[in-house]
Amino acid sequence: MASISRALRPLSRATSLRLVARRPASFRPVQSYAFSTTPRRRDGDLSHLTPTPISHLSETESLMQDTVSKFAQEQIGPKVRDMDEAESMDHTIVEQLFEQGVMAIEVPEEFGGAGMNFTAAIVAIEELARVDPSVSVLADVHNTLVNTAIMKYGSSQLQKEFLPKLATGSVGSFCLSEPSSGSDAFALQTKAEKTADGYKLNGSKMWITNAQEAGVFIVFANLDPSKGYRGITSFIVEKGTPGFSIAKKEKKLGIRASSTCVLNFDDVVIPKSNLLGEEGQGYKYAIGVLNEGRIGIAAQMTGLALGAWENAAKYVWNDRRQFGQLIGDFQGMQHQLAQAYTEITAARALVYNAARKKEAGQDFVQDAAMAKLYASQVAGRVSGSAVEWMGGMGFVREGIAEKMFRDSKIGAIYEGTSNIQLQTIAKLLQKQYTQ
Ligand SMILES: Cc1cc2nc3c(=O)[nH]c(=O)nc-3n(C[C@H](O)[C@H](O)[C@H](O)COP(=O)(O)OP(=O)(O)OC[C@H]3O[C@@H](n4cnc5c(N)ncnc54)[C@H](O)[C@@H]3O)c2cc1C
Repeated sequence: MASISRALRPLSRATSLRLVARRPASFRPVQSYAFSTTPRRRDGDLSHLTPTPISHLSETESLMQDTVSKFAQEQIGPKVRDMDEAESMDHTIVEQLFEQGVMAIEVPEEFGGAGMNFTAAIVAIEELARVDPSVSVLADVHNTLVNTAIMKYGSSQLQKEFLPKLATGSVGSFCLSEPSSGSDAFALQTKAEKTADGYKLNGSKMWITNAQEAGVFIVFANLDPSKGYRGITSFIVEKGTPGFSIAKKEKKLGIRASSTCVLNFDDVVIPKSNLLGEEGQGYKYAIGVLNEGRIGIAAQMTGLALGAWENAAKYVWNDRRQFGQLIGDFQGMQHQLAQAYTEITAARALVYNAARKKEAGQDFVQDAAMAKLYASQVAGRVSGSAVEWMGGMGFVREGIAEKMFRDSKIGAIYEGTSNIQLQTIAKLLQKQYTQ
């Protein structure tokens, strides 16, 4: 299969990822507007655009959707069950993700990436999750947290050094959580000290996605605890750096093929050039990146819900007969399927709206929180119902029904629990409605 980046590059040049707005014949374009990560207008004024449905994708985004969907079904699909049972990611899938260009969707072409927009990444994450949420989160963390942090905050030297690696073969991990700091992320205890020509890190990280496969780790540590969260600084640590080790790989309820590890930093010496951005700005970077990352998790949960729904729908409408008819012919069943599909569509609308607002340079924090909250609730409800719709066949570890149900639970936990999303939404609403 042709690589996504190869397939998309000529198109992306031709169309410049322009939003194709439906417009009347008399429309005279005043200024074209592109949803792209490259610096352009960021004033958030979209009034010159003719509105299009939120589900509308540009030509390149549609091509991304089709290509990733085909890749996921043909290449990942046959391996999903075995990877879940083995609790490990097949390394050939990771290699294929790089070959296909799915690991550097927004990374500029000069660094070996596809140079596409955020929504293209969101669509890819959703399509991967439709088949396997574990593979989806690997690509999600890599693209929306690690690549983004380096693109947004890294010096040009750091970008030149790490973006090509992250585009071609090195998986990335984002290391914020610790044993004593989860929701209260900035209470982290890992310490950084200045040395003559760099920094020394000591401490440990917990729950780190991709740690088993990763070569590049963004690590948050406090350089000056007397300043509290204002001492938090971000660094890049490479695999194999002396003193840096994986202490434990977790055994989990769901997304079992995705590695989640405890990491130890024991006098880990890194060069000055591995400072990401500025000292003391780490908390701002983490907030900024996680706000975007949440849209990725919302896309993962939407894809998961659709994958679970489609799997069950095929069964009830084609395979299983009871009382002399297909079980999907019973109205009691049809109403549940219709309700679930409506919720998935609503979740997707929240996800795409948050993504488009981010691309347009508008404030999207509340939208991202609402998308993640709702999509994870829908994923839990739909995948749970899908198990029931399939009866005993949904409960056994043969198909994907029970796995999707187990995988759905993580949506309410990582990148901010559901309570934390509710807190964010409520805070912003209260500010808006307080007189
Ligand atoms: C599989 C997996 C992968 C992960 N990957 C990463 C990763 O790659 N990088 C990384 O840095 N972290 C990662 N995490 C960590 C994840 O972000 C945290 O688990 C999450 O932020 C919650 O923290 P906690 O587990 O310590 O729960 P806690 O913070 O202890 O929360 C427990 C419960 O208390 C509630 N709670 C806490 N504070 C409040 C409050 N103020 N108001 C109301 N309720 C509250 C929570 O909502 C939750 O229900 C991962 C976690 C898992 C399980």
